[in-house]
Amino acid sequence: MSEDVQLKSSVGIVGAGIQGICIALFLIKKGFKVTLIDRDDPGKHSASYGNAGHFSPYASVPINRPDILVDIPSMLLSSTGPLSLKWNYVPKMIPWFFKFIKKCSKKNMMHTAKYMHQILNLAISSYDELFQEIDISGLVESKGIIYFWTNKDLKSRELEINIRNQLGIKQQLLTPHDIHDLEPHIKKIYHGGVLYVNAKHTRNPKKILLKLFDLFLKKGGHFERQNVQSISFTFDSKPIIKTDLNSYTFDKAVIACGAFSKKLTELMNEKIPLDTERGYHVHFKGYDHLLSRPVIFLNRGFGITPMEQGLRVVGTVEFGGLNNPLSKKRILNLVNNAKYLFPELTEHHDEWLGFRPSLPDFLPVMGPSKNYKNLFYSFGHHHLGWTLGAISGKIVAGMIAKEKTNLNLEPYSSLRFS
Ligand SMILES: Cc1cc2nc3c(=O)[nH]c(=O)nc-3n(C[C@H](O)[C@H](O)[C@H](O)COP(=O)(O)OP(=O)(O)OC[C@H]3O[C@@H](n4cnc5c(N)ncnc54)[C@H](O)[C@@H]3O)c2cc1C
Repeated sequence: MSEDVQLKSSVGIVGAGIQGICIALFLIKKGFKVTLIDRDDPGKHSASYGNAGHFSPYASVPINRPDILVDIPSMLLSSTGPLSLKWNYVPKMIPWFFKFIKKCSKKNMMHTAKYMHQILNLAISSYDELFQEIDISGLVESKGIIYFWTNKDLKSRELEINIRNQLGIKQQLLTPHDIHDLEPHIKKIYHGGVLYVNAKHTRNPKKILLKLFDLFLKKGGHFERQNVQSISFTFDSKPIIKTDLNSYTFDKAVIACGAFSKKLTELMNEKIPLDTERGYHVHFKGYDHLLSRPVIFLNRGFGITPMEQGLRVVGTVEFGGLNNPLSKKRILNLVNNAKYLFPELTEHHDEWLGFRPSLPDFLPVMGPSKNYKNLFYSFGHHHLGWTLGAISGKIVAGMIAKEKTNLNLEPYSSLRFS
């Protein structure tokens, strides 16, 4: 695309989560005129606000793996485990589960691992490009992330460690003694662990999101706080984004609404099996001094990150759609699990429910829509959408600008579901 054309081209992006904002910033760098449209103020409720704040470039081993199918029944029955179902949603989720089961073969697992690794490997350097332009002092820490476990859970750890070794991912195995040296306040219930040395974390995802959003406005980006109802097209294929209040015509449009994207893609006559894995967090205010870095206790499938808000306890994979209310039982599960590791914790605050946007093959959708050449998608980044914000933004902006790339982007296309 010539520079002249780019300067005139306008792009409307639906969704101002980490995906939408990063795409917007990379497009502005290329000379596009960008409008972000979101029904909420950025970072108010979205997944990009409430996540665990991990930048996890190591996390290419997907959830679709052969051994998970054996583990699911016991995980569902466990009162301390991460998995739960809202029974009223099970019938709606059945097609997603069937597709997921199909994707749990070793071959499919390795396909996902390879193409998650392709983008995860570029995640940190892509953020560095954006972070050069904002002040992140005190907000991003490079101390790695620790996973630990008891002997009960050793087998599945071996699979992950082997795949990560194959992919050349840096990991440092930890003895109980090492874990205690690194994080002396955790109750010594663990038998082993691993430190992902290249991982980072943020002490406040919302502050980072808002700093990137302010940068977008400062660079001439435009924001509309409106609910998008539908997208249609002019006779010459330009997208018209219709909100509750207005209609806006652009040269190109992007759907980046996280777990809510399906409402719009269905209107585009495309059946993409996007659903949500609901997750929760609570804060224990004033206790962040108990940890230096994020930790994940694998047997119980939850994590704790030291943040400005205190210790943020994050976890649960709950299949229950977008409309069921927050489950007090899941909150209690997180609170009890946190107190198991840190018996000194007292009152918790800020009970939050968020929506991971997940596809059955655990690869995101990035690329043009099946039916409309001027409409692009960027959603479905599941547990890793915070980590993948900048690299996805760079990739999707590059696609819109019709730039060449050495990456194989086909595996992320929505056409894989046609
Ligand atoms: C509990 C939990 C912990 C997590 N921890 C991590 C982690 O540590 N590391 C990591 O990498 N990832 C993590 N994730 C995943 C990550 O947070 C998400 O994948 C990511 O934030 C998704 O970003 P997004 O921009 O696609 O969607 P969102 O952040 O959900 O943003 C979508 C935006 O679209 C807007 N929108 C939706 N529909 C419309 C409409 N019709 N009109 C206008 N606006 C609309 C919404 O208001 C929202 O602002 C976690 C997720 C959860 C739930």
